[in-house]
Amino acid sequence: METFKKLICLDRDDTLIRNIPYLSDPSKIDFFPGVIPGLEALQNAGYGLVIITNQSGISRKIFNLESYRLMENAVVNKLADSHVSILATYFCPHGPDEGCPCRKPRPGMLLQAIQDFGADPAQSWMIGNADSDVAAGEAAGLRSLQIDPQLVSNVPGRIYRDFSEAVAHILETDT
Ligand SMILES: [Zn+2]
Repeated sequence: METFKKLICLDRDDTLIRNIPYLSDPSKIDFFPGVIPGLEALQNAGYGLVIITNQSGISRKIFNLESYRLMENAVVNKLADSHVSILATYFCPHGPDEGCPCRKPRPGMLLQAIQDFGADPAQSWMIGNADSDVAAGEAAGLRSLQIDPQLVSNVPGRIYRDFSEAVAHILETDT
């Protein structure tokens, strides 16, 4: 694999795309406003982009691995159509009671991504909507930002109302 010192680890559902619980229909993929230009800006600034997603719908047998893969490919291909390259997608198929090391808030998938790309956690970021995303990011040593559209005003350096504001913070911090 290519080496990327700086990774952006991205949660998928309710961070990049509007979450429909246990989404498995590619035609329903809907990126939030600001996500695609934000990812393009991060990519242009030299960050490698990876997706880190809990998909317990697989364990719960709400959809199978094959339909998950269709969704994953559709997300990656739609981004590629907009010249945004996702280096890899890491997913946890397990349920919350299975005790796996990969389901966020555990950091297993992030640690794997860091290892796979030879990244420096201290130069990397996690962006997600859930507390478990931030917890996983911090456990892996990444700076971590949360997106919360319901927020009245941003909590600088921690929580942002939309993706593009989080991206602006990253670019300001690192340059
Ligand atoms: Zn897992």
